[in-house]
Amino acid sequence: MSDAVSFEPTDWLDREDEVLAPYAMRTRQSRGRRHPEDQHPFRTLYQRDRDRIVHSTAFRRLMHKTQVLVTETNDHHRTRLTHTLEVAQISRTIARRLGLNEDLTEAIALSHDLGHPPFGHAGESALHECMAEHGGFEHNLHALRIVEVLEYRYAEFPGLNLSWEVLEAMALHSKRRDAPEIIEFVGVGQPLLEAQVADAADSLAYDAHDIDDALSVGLIAPDDLREVELWRRVLDAVKRRHVTLAPLHFQPTMVRYLIDWLVRDLLDHTLQRLRRDRIGSIADVRGASSPLAQPSPEMRTLKAGLEEFLKRRVYNHHRVQRMAVKGGRIVRQLFDEFCRSSRLMPERYARRVGTGKPERTVCDYVAGMTDRYAQDEFLRLFQPYTIV
Ligand code: MG
Repeated sequence: MSDAVSFEPTDWLDREDEVLAPYAMRTRQSRGRRHPEDQHPFRTLYQRDRDRIVHSTAFRRLMHKTQVLVTETNDHHRTRLTHTLEVAQISRTIARRLGLNEDLTEAIALSHDLGHPPFGHAGESALHECMAEHGGFEHNLHALRIVEVLEYRYAEFPGLNLSWEVLEAMALHSKRRDAPEIIEFVGVGQPLLEAQVADAADSLAYDAHDIDDALSVGLIAPDDLREVELWRRVLDAVKRRHVTLAPLHFQPTMVRYLIDWLVRDLLDHTLQRLRRDRIGSIADVRGASSPLAQPSPEMRTLKAGLEEFLKRRVYNHHRVQRMAVKGGRIVRQLFDEFCRSSRLMPERYARRVGTGKPERTVCDYVAGMTDRYAQDEFLRLFQPYTIV
């Protein structure tokens, strides 16, 4: 065995200064964690954030949570987990090219959907209705609650004790700027570029994979997409490159070209913006008049056309709507039943009902469920003669 390599925790921090762009967030500039901790010998603050997110229960549950299609539809469409991994991968590519902090970008991308309840947006609006008189429900605020309060992996502190910058990215996603949990994060200006990149990657990832999944499960046919200009332009590019293309390879090639073009456009336009606005520091990023990591105006129009198509033909497709309506109903009925009798919840939650607002505890329990678990709970509660 060779001798152990000598390594100082500061080595990587020095390296950040060498490789990162002046507008990138450096670990040394972090506002740190709510509960101070010793430095790790070989992982930076943001590497640890990323690892904590991956090891959390909420992250593993993304595997069985709806992105657009409920998880039972088949075994190879996107779930929240695979969506999250695609966002993380695309975010890292963009971050590296822009000279941003890749670890921070990855941590933000991996955490961006942690607060989603079962059954996607239908589950979210059902819970929001249920909680109308008790502060409402929003997945971004709930994600903060998960990483600040609900995860219980560490004896030293509640939640995951993530860095201020990852929490900020989660908080600034929320539309509810008046919420008390958000207040400490507003007023610093635009989000960090690392957060802006994860946000832009989220949007381009779902545009591309929702089309892919919709084609794969037959909600739409390739010819339907001819009305979408962005798709037609990608098709022209694919035809230029491939004189013949086996039907088997058509869809994956189109989706790959689409992602590639969206990423290139985002990179080109963002680099142009950074140069044009002479962005040379974090302060410049914070002080910019609008987010800097954005697609070009032309691509924004093309993307909007694709998103209008997705809304009309995919998200509002009767098969998707049926799953959504059913999911919403399951969420509402579980919520009502647990509010009526908190003793029906597992002990850890039932115990908490006595100490705080019962509705919020029920909401935490239901929001944490996967699609699969929610359906099983529904059957256990309402179907006669099941094995408990
Ligand atoms: Mg997302």
